Amino acid sequence: MMPVELEQRLSAMLDDNFDRLVSLVRDLVRIPTENTPPDGGEAAGQEFIRGWLSREAGVESELIELDAVPGLSGHELFFHGEGYERRDYRGRPNLAAQIAGTGGGRTLILSGHIDTMPAGGGDWTHPPFSGMIENGIIFGRGAFDMKGGIAASMMAVKILRDSGVRLRGDLIFESVVDEEHAGANGTLANRLAGYHGDGVIIPEPSSLRLFHAQKGFRIVHLTLRGKSGMSFAGEEFPNPVEHVGSLIECFREFRVRRRSLAPSWPDYANDPDPVPVFMNKLQAGEFSLDIPMQIPEECRLEIYWQTMPGERQEEIDRQFFAFLNQWVEDHPELKQFKLEHRFSHRWMPGVRIDPTDPLVAATAAAAESVLGHPVPPVGAPFPCDLFVFNHFGIPGVIIGPDGANCHGPDERVDAESLRQLTKIILSAAIRFCGAA
Ligand SMILES: [Zn+2]
Repeated sequence: MMPVELEQRLSAMLDDNFDRLVSLVRDLVRIPTENTPPDGGEAAGQEFIRGWLSREAGVESELIELDAVPGLSGHELFFHGEGYERRDYRGRPNLAAQIAGTGGGRTLILSGHIDTMPAGGGDWTHPPFSGMIENGIIFGRGAFDMKGGIAASMMAVKILRDSGVRLRGDLIFESVVDEEHAGANGTLANRLAGYHGDGVIIPEPSSLRLFHAQKGFRIVHLTLRGKSGMSFAGEEFPNPVEHVGSLIECFREFRVRRRSLAPSWPDYANDPDPVPVFMNKLQAGEFSLDIPMQIPEECRLEIYWQTMPGERQEEIDRQFFAFLNQWVEDHPELKQFKLEHRFSHRWMPGVRIDPTDPLVAATAAAAESVLGHPVPPVGAPFPCDLFVFNHFGIPGVIIGPDGANCHGPDERVDAESLRQLTKIILSAAIRFCGAA
């Protein structure tokens, strides 16, 4: 059968199974899999996926305990975390299934993370784990990031099996734990457990755009430390609140400097701010009558900045400290404080694969065929676990559904976009792995 006919047949089968796809997303959303370092509640979600794949697709999968993966905690990409970023992997298995091809084709990995951000507070008008659907929009924590994408991959596996179509290359489906909060140790664990491929599709939210690059990031907590107290006898207390404005000014300037320092890639030519610098959190003192009226000892500021593919950690850190140290030299009033820093999250590198890679070509052609318009690869405006695959020489792209409110209340995904995404995954698998 010609690829186009095959594609049409699988597409029709998916249309017949569309209700099942919608139910699957809703079922996944109803099972909370919140990532709450040091632990996380992914196990029930993984068990559900294992049962579904076995029952619906006749595919058996493996649950992988991270602590049992040789070499994981000693690997250079492993994020140990500390304090509230600490990680504990007991009872949080990864899942992987490998469907053997007939031979002679490329192996494709469909990778998604099952963990979600905590539901958090905020104004959920649809309860976070209800999986409610309204006018074709499915609501709930993880619906968009990224249970919708996982469901599309699972459905693609089922359709391929039901159709009897054999791929030449292998198809690997995986659902990993602990990707949120800059984790990615789950993704690393499956590589070390032996799941390798010639390419990976990650269906993170992308509104059906195709990303062949991701940004990196750095997060630092800076503390201006003085001495708490209140002067009654003429003593002087350096007040960090009075001087934090200078630090805020510093990072406004740093933002401008970063724009000139970062490399520019054509993949980010349409990004209005390719390397943003955000000041996310500011904290000093406490509004409580339990605390004596006093000048606080410290003021803390969180700075989060994004980096471009090709920028290295050493260079990023060197730029940061050079800028900060020069600022302090130029603003000697800051010298009355101890300036402390702590990198709270892992360094996350930006990565990019060659847009002429066969994976990009196959996925772009699949997306164009399904959507009916060209889908040129561009850079993702966010970081994810793509860098782990890059480290192992596995080219990766991101293409995922349309939706809104990632990490926020009323997170939602558009069901129609999941139909299109599943068709794109099916078509990309045939083009990349080859049909027997
Ligand atoms: Zn995600």
